[in-house]
Amino acid sequence: MISPYATFANNPIWFSDPFGDTLRTDGSEASSTDIRSIAGEHSDIVSISSDNVVSIDFDKVKDQDRFKNKNGTFNEKKFNKYQRQALRHAGVRLINNMSNDKLNYFYAATPVHTLETRWNDTEEWEEFSVDLSNYSGNYVDDYSWFNNVSTTPRGTETDLGSNSDLRTRPANGYDGVVFIAPGSIYTQKNGITIQVSRASYVFHELQENYFRTHYKMSYPEAHKSSIFTEDNWLKNLFDNPTPGEFYRFKYD
Ligand SMILES: [Zn+2]
Repeated sequence: MISPYATFANNPIWFSDPFGDTLRTDGSEASSTDIRSIAGEHSDIVSISSDNVVSIDFDKVKDQDRFKNKNGTFNEKKFNKYQRQALRHAGVRLINNMSNDKLNYFYAATPVHTLETRWNDTEEWEEFSVDLSNYSGNYVDDYSWFNNVSTTPRGTETDLGSNSDLRTRPANGYDGVVFIAPGSIYTQKNGITIQVSRASYVFHELQENYFRTHYKMSYPEAHKSSIFTEDNWLKNLFDNPTPGEFYRFKYD
């Protein structure tokens, strides 16, 4: 018998995770809302299972009238066209990439998070807890703040600080972990306080973590690449803005 993988011998990674079980949330409503928000107009194809596994599931919209012929039968051509179009959306693509990756990712919009850390000259990893409670409804002031935690074992830099002697990595066997303090995000421009898009903030941090974890990019490299990708994400969002959006979070 021929192995079912023989056909794909040149690209085995492609089918290493056909079930899309590698992006999880903490199960909170706030986390689900954040994940769905980055898919914008396509949020109805974002599936979050009862055990908090995120995936892109086109079956969720298959029965909709927009994919039916006048006589009520299924129009496969229309449906396939929609699938291709949706996968060009940067937010949908990011969720799809993360949920089909070999590596495991975790997202939470809750304030308390456990990491592992150690100094370069010590052997043992130690668990420690990060509490972002004070940063809820956070105010972004001259970039001297932090209201998210983004960790990966594949970079020496962390968002916790620039001390290169301190290594952090996600706990619980995850490869990439992003935590963002719940609530609205504000920034100051020319002395005026404005609310910025939480969805854009979530997209940036998740995309950046994916670049660091999957492509092993350095933190500055991933940050720059994430800003570049945001332009594609925004293009889709301006036509169908996610409710509650005001301004893009402006990174320098
Ligand atoms: Zn960044």
